[in-house]
Amino acid sequence: MPEGDTLYRTAVVLREVLTGREVTAARGGIAGPALSRVVGTHVDRVGAQGKHLLVGFDNALTLHTHLRMHGSWHRYRPGERWRRPPSRAVAVIEVPTAIAVCFDAPTVELLDTRALAIHPALARLGPDLLAPEADLRAAVQRLRDPSRAELSIGEALLDQTAQAGLGNVYRSEVCFIERVDPFLPVADIADDVLQRLLVTARRLLVANRLGPSRTTTRDALGGEATDTGPRRHGGRLYVYGRAGRPCLRCGTPIRTRVAGAVPRRTYWCPACQPATPRTDDGTSASRPRR
Ligand SMILES: [Zn+2]
Repeated sequence: MPEGDTLYRTAVVLREVLTGREVTAARGGIAGPALSRVVGTHVDRVGAQGKHLLVGFDNALTLHTHLRMHGSWHRYRPGERWRRPPSRAVAVIEVPTAIAVCFDAPTVELLDTRALAIHPALARLGPDLLAPEADLRAAVQRLRDPSRAELSIGEALLDQTAQAGLGNVYRSEVCFIERVDPFLPVADIADDVLQRLLVTARRLLVANRLGPSRTTTRDALGGEATDTGPRRHGGRLYVYGRAGRPCLRCGTPIRTRVAGAVPRRTYWCPACQPATPRTDDGTSASRPRR
């Protein structure tokens, strides 16, 4: 599913084929935006902001898409056969040398570029964890907002207004790597632990931003992989999608549960991620939560 690394990669590919080129044809899906308004313009910017993708045109319009669970952007050569049915295309941008097609994205809108700053979703985004200047301390402060005190850390890591770019796969992986129970309320987690979660999240996103396949268990991602043998298991992920299989660190069966205001599936190791508040020195305090 698309997370910040996917969008970063998509932006790299689309930037390469679209930037500076004249739009020769464009259309949206049924009831989608009137993309004919950008025909004849040149693409002057392609960028990812968290899980949002923005394509800017030199007539002061910007195409905004959000892929949610099932959307994707494809790049084709002229005449090449599409890998999804044309009826599922929600945005098509043609330049002389390529066709960029967005399939199945629930959010597709053509905006006045100046209005991006007040866009209800974009303007509220937390620091983009993939941005070179990502301010992780600011993200910790946003996590500390009283409105999130009782939110579980697993849910808070998905909250794009706290920090942008993380999705369902990474939030489980990040909590596992940092040995934090994903169901602990944010209020029970010390600042330095929040900071570590974000540092690890950023490291995973950066390491995976150019693909080809998402992994959290590479040696390059830290000391985690060396002793725990994930390479022997051939596993690309520690816990996500591994319910009932042995933890790659301790052998305990990985558990899974659907939770949250917007129900999403979480994976964790009950032994490595004990249900107790995390203190500054990384040890577990005594108040059990589950
Ligand atoms: Zn474990």
